[in-house]
Amino acid sequence: MAERRVRVRFAPSPTGPLHIGGVRTALYNYLFARQHGGDLIFRIEDTDSNRFVPGAEDYIIESFKWLGIKFDEGVSFGGNHGPYRQSERREIYKKYVKQLLDTDKAYIAFDTPEELDAKRQEIPNFQYDAQTRGLMRNSLTMPAEEVERLINEGHQYVVRFKIEPGRDVLVNDIIRGEVSINSSILDDKVLYKSADELPTYHLANIVDDHLMEVSHVIRGEEWLPSAPLHVLLYEAFGWADTMPTFAHLPLLLKPVGNGKLSKRDGDKLGFPVFPLEWHDPKSGEISSGYREKGYLPQAVVNFLALLGWNPGTEQEVLSMEELIQLFDLSKCSKAGAKFDYVKGVWFNHQYLLKQTDEEWTPAFDKILKENGIESTPAKEAQVVSMMKQKVVEYQDNLSGQIKKRNISFVSDLWPLCKFFFVAPDSFDKEDKFIKKNWKENAAADMTELAALLEGLDDFSVEGQKQVVDAWAEQTGKKPWNAWRVCLVGAGQGPDMYELAAFLGKEETLARMKNAIATLG
Ligand code: GLU
Repeated sequence: MAERRVRVRFAPSPTGPLHIGGVRTALYNYLFARQHGGDLIFRIEDTDSNRFVPGAEDYIIESFKWLGIKFDEGVSFGGNHGPYRQSERREIYKKYVKQLLDTDKAYIAFDTPEELDAKRQEIPNFQYDAQTRGLMRNSLTMPAEEVERLINEGHQYVVRFKIEPGRDVLVNDIIRGEVSINSSILDDKVLYKSADELPTYHLANIVDDHLMEVSHVIRGEEWLPSAPLHVLLYEAFGWADTMPTFAHLPLLLKPVGNGKLSKRDGDKLGFPVFPLEWHDPKSGEISSGYREKGYLPQAVVNFLALLGWNPGTEQEVLSMEELIQLFDLSKCSKAGAKFDYVKGVWFNHQYLLKQTDEEWTPAFDKILKENGIESTPAKEAQVVSMMKQKVVEYQDNLSGQIKKRNISFVSDLWPLCKFFFVAPDSFDKEDKFIKKNWKENAAADMTELAALLEGLDDFSVEGQKQVVDAWAEQTGKKPWNAWRVCLVGAGQGPDMYELAAFLGKEETLARMKNAIATLG
């Protein structure tokens, strides 16, 4: 048999913002499709109208655009297996529901919610299945004329899958191997509801996977329990020979403790669980996003790719191209992956440093503007170049301690860089650095240095260095820290010549005069 073309899909339900676990699922589908020269389909599974959230679909599309995950077909991308939004495929599903009814693989059931509740009261652990369906109001227990009459009178009904008990159902899973489930534990799932004339997730999902010629179903572990049912549906339709191969990805786990990663973990520890900021249309609540927090999309992709898979080498920083080359679905772990958000910060640091200084400036300029500062891209790039290797303090939300880390976000620059743009206006005489470095002779030394600088025609780093180094050597003076007090007002910042060159002669001299006058 000829190799089947690889066709995979990402099929979210538009019930809210896309969770970061969903992003990883989409990413793995993308890597797999690219690696095999196949297609990635974007399908919207919106058959549950109760859970529909306006804006969610656009949000998901925008998220992938930002992340650089590209689809070949689907909602907003086009393609010849459409429509790709399930709410636009009603008529298609009806035909397949009828096929199951006509071939006796499914049946019509009229039980009302109240009747079902009563049965649950009556029979412990009640499940609608081969054991109980004979006790219920359905087309298996009622005469055909009665069924027809009820339908014609407009009574609501559902179509249920007639699962034959006692069969071992095999799910072929790339990550988990062959998973066997006995069909007796499955219930006769509802496939269609007359009330909204829509199929349920299970039926729509299988019909679409078949019609869209999906070869591999790569999705989160939470869907594993549905897989035996899906296998049985493929068989019931007579499509067993084109059944996709499954791959159920490991869960994303809480960074600390046990259990599934939740939005609450993110809120508590201070990291986003959504790719983009989300404004809930109902509650107005705003949830933070990786993009708005200052993460680079490449860093997010790299970080997520390694949650549940690794290339088996020490290499961690991997571009999308490298990921496509190296990704191996069969090497994904079965065990859940702890969501190490600190590692995500580390990745962002790595990718920030890969950028040119100029690439930092749009984000930096935005932060400066928020702080009332107008500058130029050239100046901003200079500051970035001087400061990007520095270390910042931050509060570790886990321990509550103040810790140090490399600059990992453009926003980390601001507290370190304020003095480039704003002259120190007051000097704290109790500040340790100032106390230690502004001694009796400081004012005199600074006056001398200022005179020297004032005479310079060439105020570049080199120009200053020649003259000031020579003066320092001749006089034996060490003016650097007092000079730093003048220009920065604290014990931080880059090399003094670089700083003075950045500020320019006029600003440098003004800051020195001000310090001399204030500190004396
Ligand atoms: N609509 C399901 C979801 O929201 C799709 C599950 C699947 O991939 O089969 O994840």
